[in-house]
Amino acid sequence: MTSTSRRTFVIHALTASGALAASSLALSQTAAAPMVKDTDANAVALGYKADGSKTDTKKYPKYAASQNCANCALYQGAAGSEAGPCPLFAGKQVAAAGWCASWVKKTT
Ligand code: SF4
Repeated sequence: MTSTSRRTFVIHALTASGALAASSLALSQTAAAPMVKDTDANAVALGYKADGSKTDTKKYPKYAASQNCANCALYQGAAGSEAGPCPLFAGKQVAAAGWCASWVKKTT
């Protein structure tokens, strides 16, 4: 192997491994979005419960058992998903069965 072809091989190998590492990182960031916890400060502020049936109905009388994140206009998870993003909790996922005081009926 000449020094030019060896250099070319090394450059190609480094580029390929860098691209693979970058795509793996992007995948893991998507898959690893953490769940909002009921105890997170903004969750407490919005009365979020991952299990909406545990909502404090004295504090949030507008809650109804039929309401959950999955049928909220702000929920961005796919239909039938167990969890998905919500713009009120950037970088995290809310439970489809969750609820918070900002619930708005999905119209579609
Ligand atoms: S705004 Fe809607 S989707 Fe987001 S946490 Fe509250 S109820 Fe769930």
